[in-house]
Amino acid sequence: MSSEAIKVAIIGSGPAGYTAAIYAARAGLTPVLYTGGEPGGQLTTTNDVENFPGYPEGINGPQMMVDLQKQAERFGTTIHYKVVTAVDLKSYPFKLTVDGTEEILAESVIVATGASAKYLGIPSEKTYANKGVSACAVCDGYFYRGKEVAVVGAGDSAAEESTYLSKLCTKVHLIVRRDEMRASKIMQQRVLNTPNIEIHWNSETDEVLGDDSGVTGVRIVNNKTGEKKELSIQGFFLAIGHKPNTDIFKGQLDMDESGYIKVKPGTANTNIEGVFAVGDAADKIYRQAITAAGTGCMGALDAEKFLAAKEAEVA
Ligand code: NDP
Repeated sequence: MSSEAIKVAIIGSGPAGYTAAIYAARAGLTPVLYTGGEPGGQLTTTNDVENFPGYPEGINGPQMMVDLQKQAERFGTTIHYKVVTAVDLKSYPFKLTVDGTEEILAESVIVATGASAKYLGIPSEKTYANKGVSACAVCDGYFYRGKEVAVVGAGDSAAEESTYLSKLCTKVHLIVRRDEMRASKIMQQRVLNTPNIEIHWNSETDEVLGDDSGVTGVRIVNNKTGEKKELSIQGFFLAIGHKPNTDIFKGQLDMDESGYIKVKPGTANTNIEGVFAVGDAADKIYRQAITAAGTGCMGALDAEKFLAAKEAEVA
């Protein structure tokens, strides 16, 4: 273990993590950022971001993350393409285990670990993981061009992903478990106006079907009538929400029942002084790139204040 503690360790590389890094670096705190297993976070799985202020024509999600990383590095952030696998926040300086073996000490920690896609939890979904089952239409949709696919979900993600896939695929079956969608009106309208999207209302996935070549179909069941139906598809996309990536902090940081980290209102402060939570890991309501970036900024400013107070104590 390196005996010298880094001043600010940032865990996560979405808009929250990189914004925290930009602010901490510009404050001279030489932050070290651990990207985690999905560098760039969820925005790398999105296509055009049209609602981030300052881009009147929109910006491509992966490009935005490359730009944020460059901006963080320009001011002196060290970036490690590594995963923080365990934390000890009960001793000080805080201890982080990186890639299962390396231990580092940190005077402050900014948690920006984001959230991950949810799966239905049926066995066949696992059987065909990466063989036709995907939770990211923008990442994998290209493989299904000219084919028929299904999307599960009824929120903005499901609406966005089905519309995206409708441009590549011959037909998109949207499997909606209720008789209405949760997605915003404008996005629902886009779905309804797309001729090659067929919505299956009140429908749940019974089984993903396939063979050695991968997914060949899906059996859905109408939860009102009990009627079962098989759809012939090659791609099965999940768009049913996300789970915060906060397991390694369980028992140390206060969380709500879904695992979102609790922060003191109006700050990024967690229940442990010197540990800050930002972005989707602490936000189950807004979950936008811009709010994640905003809280990333708050986390860095709160860390700076914390470190200054510590230094004043010592002096
Ligand atoms: P949401 O939590 O909003 O929606 C999840 C959807 O999945 C719901 O419709 C839910 O159904 C359905 N669902 C959940 N579990 C199951 C299950 N087991 N079987 C079948 N269906 C299921 O998640 P999203 O990812 O869509 O959106 C998250 C946030 O991100 C939202 O705030 C959204 O507005 C935002 N977003 C914005 C975008 C944009 O502006 N461009 C694009 C994408 C997301 P039910 O309705 O019945 O509960």
